[in-house]
Amino acid sequence: MSHFMSAAMAAVAIFGANVDEARGRSCRSCGEKLRHTFVDLGASPLCQRHVTPESYDQAEATYPLHAYVCHECFLVQIPSYVAREQLFDEHYGYFSSFSESWLEHAESYVSMMIRRFGFGRNSKVVEIASNDGYLLQYFARAGVPVLGIEPTMNTAAAALKKGIPTITEFFGRDTARMVRASHGPADLILGNNVLAHVPDINDFVAGVKALLSPSGVFTFEFPQLLRLVEGNYWDTIYHEHFSYLSFTTVAGIFARHGLTLFDVEDLSTHGGSIRVFGRHADAPSPAIEERVQAMKEREKAAGHFELGYYERYGERVKESKREILEFLIGLKRQGKRIAAYGAPGKGNTLLNYCGIRTDFIDFTVDRSPHKQGNYLPGSRIPILAPEVVWAEKPDYIFILPWNLKDEIIRQMAGVRAWGGKFVVPLPKVTVID
Ligand SMILES: [Zn+2]
Repeated sequence: MSHFMSAAMAAVAIFGANVDEARGRSCRSCGEKLRHTFVDLGASPLCQRHVTPESYDQAEATYPLHAYVCHECFLVQIPSYVAREQLFDEHYGYFSSFSESWLEHAESYVSMMIRRFGFGRNSKVVEIASNDGYLLQYFARAGVPVLGIEPTMNTAAAALKKGIPTITEFFGRDTARMVRASHGPADLILGNNVLAHVPDINDFVAGVKALLSPSGVFTFEFPQLLRLVEGNYWDTIYHEHFSYLSFTTVAGIFARHGLTLFDVEDLSTHGGSIRVFGRHADAPSPAIEERVQAMKEREKAAGHFELGYYERYGERVKESKREILEFLIGLKRQGKRIAAYGAPGKGNTLLNYCGIRTDFIDFTVDRSPHKQGNYLPGSRIPILAPEVVWAEKPDYIFILPWNLKDEIIRQMAGVRAWGGKFVVPLPKVTVID
């Protein structure tokens, strides 16, 4: 017995403290060895790959959904287990133009940029991850020459159809040099929800440096880590998101490549994003706005430069899982029937981490016809048409896309006819009558 005990204790000594370092992962920003876990959500399948009836009997690949924080530069990241070509291929289903609020956001950005920086018919605007041309169409309408760079073939084809010139490539140093040689330098480079999705963030930022004209500006929008922690949006951690960014870590990456962030804006889109504005470090203008320093101070005050901030959050996520399961177990013991609403990527992180399957949730419903008839990855909960709710009359509707909860509750208000209620799982389990 004592033999066994000492062997076990030796194993803890070897693997306990340094178990993360033992895996030999390096920070994608600064190259330091990754030693500290931010959130470990176990193994999960790719969240955009729905299971079809034909593939139902086949195995599904799962990959670790383990986010680390770098103790040197504090970049939160998931090692790239899955090649980007596999994540963003011709099956990638997200077309930006299907969201009306996102189109409005793009349109108001374009008029703001034209007002503030005076872009016109002699300017060149390049968007990285330009999707189906949802944003560049507004620059094109204003007579500003545009070029989209988009790796997914089906969305790029939709952009070309709208008359938006688009190159089907991933962006990095090589693509930037090629575009500069063929189209000239860019006066504006922009990218929305792309910075977090690139496995080699240094190569990406080096590409921005290479393509930007001497007096050019760039803007990037991305979800801010501060908001993820404050709002408890841990379900936004999934394999397509390689990095979880703070303003300060992003400013550091750009600075390493000779680029300076001169402004930052808070945005309410996508569960708490920010928009950063940058230029060459040696350009005389635009001047650095006071908001830059204020944002850095806000992140510092929150604890961004202390490892404890990240470790405490990992514990909060575990408690969140216990709370959701406790609630669902309670409902099932009372014989309640639960359906879900939606089939978003974040919903799959939540269901798979919590181990929620058809034992708790009978089915989910989604308005998009190409998802109906399939199954959610991992949990294999069937995806049906919203009308099924009126026939099945579940007691609870578990809302997976919590960012759209007001819209969904309005749409599904009819469930109240039989006493149906809504449940929003995050930031904490909330029942809405
Ligand atoms: Zn680092």
